[in-house]
Amino acid sequence: MKQTIEVKNLSTSYYGKEALHQISFSFDTGKLIGIIGPNGAGKSTLIKSMLGLIKKDAGEASFAGMSLKKVRKQIAYVPQRAAIDWDFPILVLDAVLLGTYPKLGIFRRPSKADREWAYECLEKVGMEAHSKKQIGELSGGQQQRVFLARALAQKADFFFLDEPLVGIDVTSEEVIMNILKDLRDEGKSIFVVHHDLTKVGEYFDDLILLNKKLIKSGPVKSVLQPELMREAYEAQFSLLDTMGVFS
Ligand code: ADP
Repeated sequence: MKQTIEVKNLSTSYYGKEALHQISFSFDTGKLIGIIGPNGAGKSTLIKSMLGLIKKDAGEASFAGMSLKKVRKQIAYVPQRAAIDWDFPILVLDAVLLGTYPKLGIFRRPSKADREWAYECLEKVGMEAHSKKQIGELSGGQQQRVFLARALAQKADFFFLDEPLVGIDVTSEEVIMNILKDLRDEGKSIFVVHHDLTKVGEYFDDLILLNKKLIKSGPVKSVLQPELMREAYEAQFSLLDTMGVFS
């Protein structure tokens, strides 16, 4: 049977002001999905609402037919880099090991096998040489790769990444996108909040175009339509046209 990730009628507000209005969409599992829309469109809020990290006013999300409660341990979430305290003193390998905790339970100490698995995940993102550094010593791109390694360590089925490519170097961007594509090829479902529109066609299978309400969701080509983009981006639209986003 075909499995889907579904959001139905999701609305969320902050202090009485609505940030998301009755969002509904459905995607097959095993897709790499970009969430796009202008600043303040509610992209981060959508992820956080789907994952129960903030309280929603209404609506529900289901993951391959299961409720959030049932799949929570199969979900990996990489928050925006700006939302993380990088001064927190933790070694790179230990930060990755944290990814194994949802499976371990908080009272079990990681085993040698867990440490080896964490190291393997660091290798996948090309960061094993930095395993003994403090996370605060790394560049932005390196930090983002370590957080992806932590998500990999979790062996999740559903991945949610909030702006993983912002302010990082070209190599890190390539490493991250290749890993996300590999995960997709293994049948994992990946949602990525993304704001640079120039490469969306190359990077994603499907898109969610938002501006407080859902403008359109579906395969990239069906979403990257000038009239839909105009509706979402309003003032910035002519700039997008000059950038060649629609060509
Ligand atoms: P995006 O990720 O698309 O830039 P966000 O989801 O961060 O958008 O924000 C959507 C709207 O909700 C914006 O108007 C933003 O100012 C507001 N918002 C986001 N987080 C909070 C918060 N913690 N408290 C109050 N308002 C918030």
